[in-house]
Amino acid sequence: MLKRKDLLGLIDISAEEITEILDLAQEFKNRIKRGEKKMNHLDGKTVTILFYENSTRTRTSFEQAAKYLGATAINIEASTSSVAKGETLVDTGKTLDAQRNDFIVMRHPMGGAPYLLAKTVKAGVLNAGDGINEHPTQALLDMLTMREVYGSLKGLKVAILGDIKHSRVAKSNLFGLKKMGAEVAMYAPQTLIPKGMDQLGAKICKSRQEALDGADVVMGLRIQLERQEAGNFPSLGEYAANYGVNEELLSLAKPNAIVLHPGPVNRGVELTSGVIDHERSHIEDQVLSGVAVRMAALTLMNEARRGN
Ligand code: ASP
Repeated sequence: MLKRKDLLGLIDISAEEITEILDLAQEFKNRIKRGEKKMNHLDGKTVTILFYENSTRTRTSFEQAAKYLGATAINIEASTSSVAKGETLVDTGKTLDAQRNDFIVMRHPMGGAPYLLAKTVKAGVLNAGDGINEHPTQALLDMLTMREVYGSLKGLKVAILGDIKHSRVAKSNLFGLKKMGAEVAMYAPQTLIPKGMDQLGAKICKSRQEALDGADVVMGLRIQLERQEAGNFPSLGEYAANYGVNEELLSLAKPNAIVLHPGPVNRGVELTSGVIDHERSHIEDQVLSGVAVRMAALTLMNEARRGN
């Protein structure tokens, strides 16, 4: 059973914990699909959403998750808070604790920042993306989307193509999927694959064809232009032509293979529009999985806090 104060990464989570989150998330997803958006699992609780980096999907889905569960959700924009006056993360955390926040959802450009916050506050901390380190709830929602289609993650071949070096999504997925018995194949320009991914269990492929061949899931990752140092690849056009996925390449995957992308998408770069809008694309479905997974994580962490 999930007995965690914080959810910071999938590096140290067990397959049992992942299954518990996904099972509950599936229940929540079914309920939302039936139009149920008023639940009371987090009645009387406060969830503060503290983002030091831009976001559309993650921020809104955490807010929806908290509200659907009956909690009060508070958004703090780092640019308009005392953070902009130079307040340290630890002092911000102390303030949020003094206000008796129950959960803090944090996104931060520095890897490890949520770990520091979690050590300092009594509130439960959920990592909503820390630099290029991890984005655990994104990988959980990706796994929920895959599991809903295939019934199980065991034995699936998941091909991940794109900017793996700067992707916290790639790392969290690798940790989670390996624990659940899936195979993870990666392909990108060599400059966009960090050393050691193979030691963490990824199969590093030599071509798009090798990565896509027989894949059950094709996951594109955004070229993270805001984190790019010069010289990783010649131009976006050349990236698209040599490393992107188009419909012809998609046909190398299994006939019923699904397409995923965490968003936001650079249309026509990592995936062509034909692939993004393909009938087997589950990119929009991932968004609803995101609300459900965040509801499940908050609910289970709340139960752990109550000692249930
Ligand atoms: N939204 C995801 C993240 O925050 C993926 C991306 O930005 O490319 O990591």
